[in-house]
Amino acid sequence: MNQKQYDVIVIGAGAAGMMCAIEAGYRGLNVLLLDHAPKPGAKIRISGGGKCNFTNRNVEPKHFICSNPHFVKSALARYQPDAFIERVERHAIAYEERDKGQLFTLDGAGQLVAMFRTELDWAGVELQLNCFVSNVQKGSDQWQLITSNGSLQSQKLVVATGGLSYPKLRASDFGMQLAQQFGLAVMPSRPGLVPLVMPARQQAWWSELSGLSLRVIASTARGPEFDGAMLITHQGLSGPSILQASNYWFAGEAIRLNLLPQIKGIAGWLQELKQQAQPLSTVLKQYWPKRFVQAWQDKFGFDDDLANYSQIRLDALAEQLTAWSLYPEDTAGYAKAEVSLGGVATDEVSSKTMESLKVPGLYFIGEVLDVTGHLGGFNFQWAWASAHACAQSL
Ligand SMILES: Cc1cc2nc3c(=O)[nH]c(=O)nc-3n(C[C@H](O)[C@H](O)[C@H](O)COP(=O)(O)OP(=O)(O)OC[C@H]3O[C@@H](n4cnc5c(N)ncnc54)[C@H](O)[C@@H]3O)c2cc1C
Repeated sequence: MNQKQYDVIVIGAGAAGMMCAIEAGYRGLNVLLLDHAPKPGAKIRISGGGKCNFTNRNVEPKHFICSNPHFVKSALARYQPDAFIERVERHAIAYEERDKGQLFTLDGAGQLVAMFRTELDWAGVELQLNCFVSNVQKGSDQWQLITSNGSLQSQKLVVATGGLSYPKLRASDFGMQLAQQFGLAVMPSRPGLVPLVMPARQQAWWSELSGLSLRVIASTARGPEFDGAMLITHQGLSGPSILQASNYWFAGEAIRLNLLPQIKGIAGWLQELKQQAQPLSTVLKQYWPKRFVQAWQDKFGFDDDLANYSQIRLDALAEQLTAWSLYPEDTAGYAKAEVSLGGVATDEVSSKTMESLKVPGLYFIGEVLDVTGHLGGFNFQWAWASAHACAQSL
């Protein structure tokens, strides 16, 4: 049986865990990186439609949701997107910039996992896969782990086990459970960056239109507005603007849609169309898919004959076009969520080192913490930055 002793054990060979293990290894530490999955970096592989949106050119604290909004500042400032881009370029991985500063690999996310595996070797990190941790105890000066590979000891323990989304990729609540075992607070978890499901009685209407996409501004009572594509699904709504808004949506609340973000001053615009006696459908087809125009006009009873609209009716049309309140029944759950909101409470973790303020030698990095990024490469940037900050202090 393995009885090995390490300076650092990192649990979770995902984005944050690999980054932290590499940086700690480069600092000369004897590091074990373990994971219960058969391969490292499973979420990196499938992320960004297989191309991994690995960072964003413009990363600011406002792109993150955290009970303590200041928590992310230090780590993000000390490991900026350029540092990760430099690493990607050093490994000759081709990438492209898409909308809003989002960077994706050109030839597949597997290249990033290969990059990490190479650097794990360079850094002399020991990687144990299919390794199951059944017990963690803290002795007077070291950590003791009972695993399927035997008993392991280390000076420091880094928890990088991620969030609950995509359970089929071996997501687990291990990190949150461990935090609770040591008396640390955990913010309740819920799915984020997730499609929204409409009530059953409305699903037939959405289902008829599934596959259609249009540009909207989506917002909720508590969050910012998100301008981007909305995709109609069999069950409801998805696409970037909806996924973004889902982070701020709570059951029972409305999602508000502006279906014409292109038009500034909707009231004046409608007045002009009325004077020009333009058919409503002709105008809407410039912005929406044809089938959506027809279904939407039928649903709300707005006929084509704008010239005959009273002012009250015109106002109602403006309201319905720019502030359509929808009441989803639920989210599509962790199975479809890109991230989970909530996690280990940041109030009890050092924002400079990621070390628990209550339990010396215990560190949390990446998504297991109560930090969630917007869509656009921000979640990986948090994984890299928090891992880097942690590794510097191990
Ligand atoms: C479909 C999808 C697409 C995404 N696309 C993007 C994107 O393009 N850009 C972006 O920024 N973010 C994206 N994300 C989010 C991003 O993948 C995560 O935020 C990021 O991977 C978090 O890194 P992490 O290291 O904290 O956790 P993870 O990468 O999830 O790694 C956690 C690791 O811990 C291991 N683990 C869990 N429990 C245990 C246990 N009990 N014992 C041992 N090991 C354990 C897991 O097997 C895993 O390897 C996407 C997520 C999904 C699901």
